[in-house]
Amino acid sequence: VDLLPDGGTVLEPGDRVRVRRTGPDRGTVEEVEPRRSTLSRPAIGRGRVEHVMAANVDQVAVVTAAEDPEFTPGLVDRVLAVVEYSHLEGLLVVNKIDLVPHPPAGLEAYRALGYPVLLTSAVTGAGLDALRARLAGRVTVVAGHSGVGKSSLLNALDPALDRAVRDVNAFTGRGTHTTTAAEWIPLTAGGAVIDTAGVREFGLWGIPARDVSWLFRDLARVAPGCRYPDCRHRTEPGCAVRDAVGRGAIAASRYESYLRILEDVEERATDS
Ligand code: GDP
Ligand code: ZN
Repeated sequence: VDLLPDGGTVLEPGDRVRVRRTGPDRGTVEEVEPRRSTLSRPAIGRGRVEHVMAANVDQVAVVTAAEDPEFTPGLVDRVLAVVEYSHLEGLLVVNKIDLVPHPPAGLEAYRALGYPVLLTSAVTGAGLDALRARLAGRVTVVAGHSGVGKSSLLNALDPALDRAVRDVNAFTGRGTHTTTAAEWIPLTAGGAVIDTAGVREFGLWGIPARDVSWLFRDLARVAPGCRYPDCRHRTEPGCAVRDAVGRGAIAASRYESYLRILEDVEERATDS
């Protein structure tokens, strides 16, 4: 079922519905509960104000690997920007911690911004209790490149799930696509995980360029100090953001992520 009888809202993972049974494994959606939250991003084009990815979500977990594939802050920042846009909580899971002697550099910056960072290993079981506690009783959207170990983590957390694990392709270093559509996965301990179809969903555009920095907590803190209220924090004089990057108060990788998203947003804006 995709559409409501009134032709209105498209159902998304996490929507709570009342179904009237019309057969042994058939039914009609009669009612959709009002959403208490959504994971969404601005979408470009007239009449498409927002793209909703999931409904009734508590938090979003970005799953990355410490190694194989290597840690990618760009993806983390993109997902966290969408999390801020949606007014949800974000957390960072760094899996395959067994493969490295030290956690990847730069994680402290995320903790300092208020995002919990969990170091895990589906192989050794490190960090799984903390992750289980974070997920219990809550609805969590899980995002991350394939091959970082999302399926392995879910299986280790809740063996009842028995999800397919694929070998990482030796040539590309990426996992083959095991998951094709966003999926609702109830947890035995209560709560559920929504496994997103991929990370392309987290593209950000359709937002005014001057608003991009508000989706970066670290930039948003200092941006009010910029000389020009519509400062894009590139080459403008009196830019408090670039000043903070120069002093090391904002991580260079966060600033780079900001610039990349800003470019995306500006490019799409001239397309339309
Ligand atoms: P997904 O695509 O994110 O669901 O990743 P998978 O769960 O399919 O795992 C991809 C590959 O990484 C598999 O070969 C797993 O055995 C391996 N893997 C997953 N988690 C870990 C981990 O914590 N440590 C190590 N060393 N390998 C892992
Ligand atoms: Zn600025």
